[in-house]
Amino acid sequence: MNSPLPHPATGPQDFAGRAVVVTGAGSGIGRATALAFARRGARVLVADLNADAAAETAALVGGLGADVVAVVGDLSEQAVVDRVVATAVDSFGGLDVLVNNAGIMDSMAAVADVTDAEWERLLRVNLTAPFLLTRAALPHLLATGRGAIVFTASEASLRGSAAGAAYTAAKHGVIGLTKSLAVTYRDRGIRTNAVAPGGTITNIQVQADPEGTGPRALAGYMGNVGRPAEADTQAEAIVFLASDAARNINGAVLPVDGGWSAV
Ligand code: NAD
Repeated sequence: MNSPLPHPATGPQDFAGRAVVVTGAGSGIGRATALAFARRGARVLVADLNADAAAETAALVGGLGADVVAVVGDLSEQAVVDRVVATAVDSFGGLDVLVNNAGIMDSMAAVADVTDAEWERLLRVNLTAPFLLTRAALPHLLATGRGAIVFTASEASLRGSAAGAAYTAAKHGVIGLTKSLAVTYRDRGIRTNAVAPGGTITNIQVQADPEGTGPRALAGYMGNVGRPAEADTQAEAIVFLASDAARNINGAVLPVDGGWSAV
């Protein structure tokens, strides 16, 4: 027989009192995720590069009656990462859930056309920044005895035809990070999973060259994408993976794409 859920009275997705950090929470999937956690009673740290966007999300989260604090800065900088963790611990007394969501799109360029600057920025923001934040957060996630980490990966984590070379490589790296964390810390109370969103209606923008030279130029690309989804479809999956309902799910990559990855 399965063991009972830890919070049978309130449901497995109840986050009352738990401290959650959501990166890229100023917009799109991150904002929807911050709100979804707040609706379940979490205390939320909103982290984003964009000060106005972060303040707007913090006001929305606070409007739901949740404890909220915002940290503004570029998460590819160690000092900002350290500030996020210190603020969560100072404000909430610890850290239970880390959602590594912030990310940027590339120019859809094929390998031959990727500049050093684009490659380095994409890898820095989409892969190194979540690594830095996870490393800094780990002692606090371990201290809870039931920490959860969720990455926002991408359809481009699963295939070579969903973005340019730099974004695709970075997002495949996110899956490697997810699995490494899942295996390394599974016996120490931390679960790590990822969502792989398909096309989702947010403010994300293809950088620099809207035509690109990579996969988007391939015939049939758009036909396989499917209908773009609302950001809250990603948020609900992220909340689920962080919740006790997913207590036996670790190292999983969940496509949230309406079936794009099944094509
Ligand atoms: P978005 O642009 O609406 O939101 C991203 C947020 O991240 C923005 O508020 C931005 O200011 C913030 N951000 C970007 N770089 C940052 C940095 N260095 N430091 C701090 N904050 C930073 O985009 P979104 O679509 O909600 O993107 C969220 C995640 O979803 C990203 O990792 C993206 O790669 C992934 N994703 C999105 C889609 C989609 O179709 N929208 C599909 C697959 C994966």
